[in-house]
Amino acid sequence: FFITVEGGEGVGKTTNVAFIRQFLQHHEINHLHTREPGGTPLAEELREILLATRDESVGEMAELLMVFAARAQHLQQKILPALSSGKTVLCDRFTDATYAYQGCGRGLSIERIEQLEAMVQAGMQPDLTILLDLPVETGMARARARGELDRFESEHLAFFERVRAGYLARAAAEPERFSIIDASQDIASVQLQIESALLSFFSI
Ligand code: C5P
Ligand code: MG
Repeated sequence: FFITVEGGEGVGKTTNVAFIRQFLQHHEINHLHTREPGGTPLAEELREILLATRDESVGEMAELLMVFAARAQHLQQKILPALSSGKTVLCDRFTDATYAYQGCGRGLSIERIEQLEAMVQAGMQPDLTILLDLPVETGMARARARGELDRFESEHLAFFERVRAGYLARAAAEPERFSIIDASQDIASVQLQIESALLSFFSI
């Protein structure tokens, strides 16, 4: 199975991905953990380029193509071979992030994203997407407290409101694939929600 984890800034993605890995280990589900943008040496280099602050601003189309270039490499080199060998793949962010950040956040045409998605993924989709959702103010405060301020995170609130709305719209359009987790609650309750989503997904 292909499982992705999504969410805006400060939603607790890192902590909860670690929790999901523990769950998979505990239930002896053979898996590969990876992330986007990144996941292979070339794709990680593209990630560095995407996250770097520089004098020359990265054009929106260049950004979109780099995200999909990294994804094409990641799929070919890592995700598809692991899935073929019967592994479950757990990926920290995937194409829903492109719709949320580049599409809704930066205002790139959704149609362009769909075209690239069709080209790069040829219909390949996650089986389960865990969306960690919480009010933007709360997430930004958490991210700021950790000193996580890259090129993207220094954007203003309105940008992240659009990202959140983008994710929620994706989830509303595909309720069978998405599991929305209320990430504003305490960690124990968030993990209970995630655990119950996984138990039902794996029919355990
Ligand atoms: O997943 P992580 O939070 O480590 O991602 C690093 C940064 O990349 C985030 O600040 C996120 O806002 C940004 N990003 C993006 N577009 C994507 C994926 C991630 O702007 N498609
Ligand atoms: Mg993180």
